[in-house]
Amino acid sequence: MNGLMMDEPLLLTHLVRRAARLFWEKRILSRTQFGVTEYTYADLYRRACQLGHVLERLGIKAGERVGTFAWNTFRHLELYFGVPASGRVLHTLNIRLFPEQIAYIVNHAEDAIIFVDYALIPQLEKLAPELRSVRAYVAMGDGPLPETSLKPAYAYEDLLREAPTSDPFPALDEQTAAAMCYTSGTTGNPKGVVYSHRALVLHTFAQCMADAFGLRESDVIMPVVPMFHANAWGLPYGATMIGATQVYPGVQPTPEDICQLIETHRVTVTAGVPTVLLGILAALEKRPYDLSSLRCVPCGGSAVPESLLERFDALGITVVQAWGMTETSPLASVSHPLSVMADWPEERKRKVRAKQGRPLPFVEMRIVAEDGREQPWDGKSVGELEVRGPWIVGSYYRDERSAASFDRGWFKTGDIGTIDEYGYLQITDRAKDVIKSGGEWISSVELENTIMAHPKVAEAAVIGLPHERWQERPLACVVLRPGETLTKEELLAFLEPRVAKWWLPDDVVFLDALPKTSVGKVAKRELRENFRNYRWPAK
Ligand code: ADP
Repeated sequence: MNGLMMDEPLLLTHLVRRAARLFWEKRILSRTQFGVTEYTYADLYRRACQLGHVLERLGIKAGERVGTFAWNTFRHLELYFGVPASGRVLHTLNIRLFPEQIAYIVNHAEDAIIFVDYALIPQLEKLAPELRSVRAYVAMGDGPLPETSLKPAYAYEDLLREAPTSDPFPALDEQTAAAMCYTSGTTGNPKGVVYSHRALVLHTFAQCMADAFGLRESDVIMPVVPMFHANAWGLPYGATMIGATQVYPGVQPTPEDICQLIETHRVTVTAGVPTVLLGILAALEKRPYDLSSLRCVPCGGSAVPESLLERFDALGITVVQAWGMTETSPLASVSHPLSVMADWPEERKRKVRAKQGRPLPFVEMRIVAEDGREQPWDGKSVGELEVRGPWIVGSYYRDERSAASFDRGWFKTGDIGTIDEYGYLQITDRAKDVIKSGGEWISSVELENTIMAHPKVAEAAVIGLPHERWQERPLACVVLRPGETLTKEELLAFLEPRVAKWWLPDDVVFLDALPKTSVGKVAKRELRENFRNYRWPAK
């Protein structure tokens, strides 16, 4: 300490202690099979403290990884605080990955213990024989511990009931590991990212800023994005820091459950990937729900189509696009139009909102061409997006693939895009999804957005498939809205005035659904695989 200011570390512990002090009576609700459980921040803090004692009693050492295999519930929230605040590392496992991938991840992270929802016990039991480092399982749910082959297994509520309520949280260095997540591993094995307390605290501040999601005490925040995916975009931390009412959607919520929770609890902020928001729109087509309480709906994880923004605008609900990755904690940029754009027509502003946004404070971005040169911010020059900042990954956890992901101190995202003169990032593709046609690149994201602007289209994905003459050409895979019909010719006629001629898909196929990844993004690799034997129609 140099004496200028106090050397107080930035710890997640502070957030939950503060919430208990200042917002003790504010509520946290959680959907269960019996309805909705409800308690206060005072309860959250008390139970997070008890959890710290439980981990001690079970012999989990400081720095050891504590796995969670769980949906978005109040118990998972307790783990979000109790584990890092007690000096252990919260490791959220993606329940939707393939069993081999989950086993790889647990073994690679060497999780010492796993907390599992009652509802997910059968799934974990199948994996358990493969898990080499796990010494105990703790099952979370209401009622008695179900019969299980997991050994040794404890009931979360029993352990908590017997634990002291005193605050067990030690003083920690802010660089202490707080949490970790693995990327979904679309290529090769998943890679681990470890977040420090400092990184998550700074990320929380940035997220709450008015020009990010503007989270505040009066909000009712419902994290729909899974808590096993990229820290639920940090919402549990942000909501707790500012003392908002929180709503957790519980085990496997349907779009109807989500709409019902929004309506009943007057949710003001909820966040999800575009697929989830499309699900909400589809639910609304079946029956009306009152979603008028929503004031900000962060959306990201894949490009947010303009048509999606427009459909929510029509309902008076503002969808705010954000860009990020597991490697960036995850938020790095948020897209709001600027005050200089205030007079622009809505349509033009929507084009700005359809971009991936401007970097948050302390996040730096640059676009680098294939020859390694930094590109100008002109909205046209394309290259790989590189980022750096205090909540950007510095290296993958015990992974020799790390070196290849960094360029002179910057993290290489694998995303391709541009940055315009106002600093708005626009992602045109992931490097592996770019369509290379005759030496030029076609942006699958832009084509998809244009196709989804067709009123009869529910969802679209464009993939590049090998082509004798052009190397690759675009194939459009389209899902129509229920009850609609559309021909290839009609869709191409719609696209013709809207995209460059050489971008027009060479063929259109209509599908019942698009394959999705574990976190609800279109699984393009799987789609390309499905069309491996596809032949282009003769011209
Ligand atoms: P994965 O998609 O591999 O499961 P992540 O959830 O970490 O892992 O996803 C990060 C990727 O998601 C980014 O690299 C980017 O390609 C994509 N992405 C995230 N937000 C957006 C967005 N707003 N627009 C377009 N792509 C996005």
